[in-house]
Amino acid sequence: MKLENEDALDNYIICHRCFTLQKEQPLKDGSSAYCVGCGSKLYRYDSKLIDNALAWSITGLIFFLLANTFPLIKIDMLGTEQFITLPKTIFSLFENGFYLVGFLCLFLIFIFPLMIFLINIVLFSLLKFQRGESLTKELLILLSHISPWSMADIFFISLLVALVKLIAFGQIHIGISFWALMAFVMIDIYITKSIRIPEIWMLRKKIFFKMGTQKELA
Ligand SMILES: [Zn+2]
Repeated sequence: MKLENEDALDNYIICHRCFTLQKEQPLKDGSSAYCVGCGSKLYRYDSKLIDNALAWSITGLIFFLLANTFPLIKIDMLGTEQFITLPKTIFSLFENGFYLVGFLCLFLIFIFPLMIFLINIVLFSLLKFQRGESLTKELLILLSHISPWSMADIFFISLLVALVKLIAFGQIHIGISFWALMAFVMIDIYITKSIRIPEIWMLRKKIFFKMGTQKELA
């Protein structure tokens, strides 16, 4: 297959399962396109996607901030009470000399998830108001680089394992942050599974292409 220039690649989509390159077809609202090779879903067109994604991203960020503000768990051990918060967990790693693990935790469970939700909010707001043609492109590229590095879900599962082990040593009380973190992880998984970057890329193209033709006509 011969392509005239790099922009011509924008009209093609690669199947993530069998890697067949296929020409993009215009879709009706709410319908999906499937791969001719393996039959897996390639993309869908949903005009409500941006509004939904923006709403979920804002909700996720609120839960993330709550999860980092209040105590995660309270432990009663030998008559002493200890509150554990998410930032305190990371700081105590540094205090005890575990710098590498501390940095990993700081990035994987704090900086990257926070960045992803902030980028999502800026990106979907720009797309909603049809602004920032080049900025949205840069944000999508950045998002595709950092989204595999957000590991709040893995942290949550390790926390559950740690809780089960801690029960043997003392009384554990679940704090507000625990539920907020659980809600955040659920939203994070939902966004990653249901709002895929290639679909946002296509919606973005559609929005700015429509704007371009409207400008030409005016
Ligand atoms: Zn395929």
